[in-house]
Amino acid sequence: MTTTPWRTTVLTLFPEMFPGPLGVSLAGKALSSGLWALEARDIRDSATDRHRSVDDTPAGGGPGMVLRADVLAAAIDAANTASDGPKSRPRLLMSPRGRPLTQSRIVELAAGPGPLVVCGRFEGVDERVIGARGLEEVSIGDYVLSGGEIAAMVLIDACVRLLPGVMGKQESGADESFSDGLLEYPQFTRPQAFEGQPIPEILISGDHAKVAAWRRAEAEALTRARRPDLWAARPSRQPNAEPRQNRPKSTTDG
Ligand code: SAH
Repeated sequence: MTTTPWRTTVLTLFPEMFPGPLGVSLAGKALSSGLWALEARDIRDSATDRHRSVDDTPAGGGPGMVLRADVLAAAIDAANTASDGPKSRPRLLMSPRGRPLTQSRIVELAAGPGPLVVCGRFEGVDERVIGARGLEEVSIGDYVLSGGEIAAMVLIDACVRLLPGVMGKQESGADESFSDGLLEYPQFTRPQAFEGQPIPEILISGDHAKVAAWRRAEAEALTRARRPDLWAARPSRQPNAEPRQNRPKSTTDG
């Protein structure tokens, strides 16, 4: 077992954006207490000309600017040399052309040493650096951001909350949306009556088995109605299968 915490390196033209929202609440507390580490490196530090330029006009014409392959490759190499972490960590490029990010990829990334994350800007990056440095393109959705930084924060936040010790209850990560190919069941809390709507009776019955069955049924109904794509792709599709995630807490924790 290694004692090195999960450690992510972000390559960006705007390192001052980090940790930003990752520095508050649960992720921020865990960052301060050393449960994970974040290194934001300025791509511009790898520029070589006297103007420290990092981008240039697109070959073939067109609007905007493109991040230079040589500068970005040098930034990646410098990050890997400087880092005391494993050299085999995933190298991600935030990109609207990438494979859409999923909770299962997040689970994998959270279980690893922590990725190197490249944030694009402008029109994106020179295509050649993607292959030359083995970058895995990752998208956070079918829309275009002005830069990869917020996308990187999305990815890092989703990983960090899964790290051991970051969330209050270990199990809260296993029971939520996407963990079983389902959206999460509806949640309720006090007051018992809100604008005339009571909390569903079954949830205050104290019958853990009934609560679990109700939650499972709600999760399935929600998923079917809202996300037929998830429903069709569900891993365990036996109609009468024993609920795996929603058993009473007393039987799931050791
Ligand atoms: N011209 C590009 C978009 C560039 S947007 C295209 O049409 O594909 C600038 C940068 O923002 C990208 O290089 C990428 O790093 C980031 N970005 C934009 N949208 C993103 C998304 N949906 N997911 C992840 N990163 C994104």
